[in-house]
Amino acid sequence: MWNWLAMAKLRQLFSGRRVALDVDGPHAERLVAMLERIGAELVDVHGRVRSVERAGGGLDLQVDDETIHVDGMFTAPTFVQSAPFAEQLGLELSDLGVVVVDSFQATSVAGVFAAGDLAAHRDLPMPMASVLTAQSAGLVAGAASIQHLMSREAVTAR
Ligand SMILES: Cc1cc2nc3c(=O)[nH]c(=O)nc-3n(C[C@H](O)[C@H](O)[C@H](O)COP(=O)(O)OP(=O)(O)OC[C@H]3O[C@@H](n4cnc5c(N)ncnc54)[C@H](O)[C@@H]3O)c2cc1C
Repeated sequence: MWNWLAMAKLRQLFSGRRVALDVDGPHAERLVAMLERIGAELVDVHGRVRSVERAGGGLDLQVDDETIHVDGMFTAPTFVQSAPFAEQLGLELSDLGVVVVDSFQATSVAGVFAAGDLAAHRDLPMPMASVLTAQSAGLVAGAASIQHLMSREAVTAR
């Protein structure tokens, strides 16, 4: 369902258009495949964009020493943890700087769970930053942490 919606939106916005890519890695490969499928003209600008300005319904990019006009651009954001906990606890972070969690919101450290914009499953390119996904992940993290505590108590009580 998500893929279908993403493809429909991509087609609406970028079919036959010129699109700059400032991304790399396995998730970028998927994006490239989708954009090629809808016939977008791709311009690889990875790591070379010095400035971006709105221009003529699209963008003017300063890339190295030239200005390139494109209809849109994909870039990968990086995240900074505003609280020190992830670092203090030694939690595994993704390349983008978010706490890596499994399907139960468990981090790389036993008994520590994370949810919301600061965390993402390793299969996702980045957190799905929305209120609904943050709340839903929080529910799972809460349930999983109770389960963790109860299983510890059960082991201790034996
Ligand atoms: C401009 C904007 C518009 C958005 N619009 C939408 C929208 O229309 N619909 C939608 O679904 N989502 C929207 N989002 C995304 C949504 O707000 C987030 O995905 C969601 O709030 C994430 O929830 P969270 O609990 O992970 O983080 P947050 O809601 O950011 O909560 C984190 C809390 O931790 C606190 N905090 C930070 N550091 C510390 C510290 N050291 N000690 C104690 N507390 C700390 C912060 O003050 C904050 O209250 C928008 C986001 C932005 C920035």
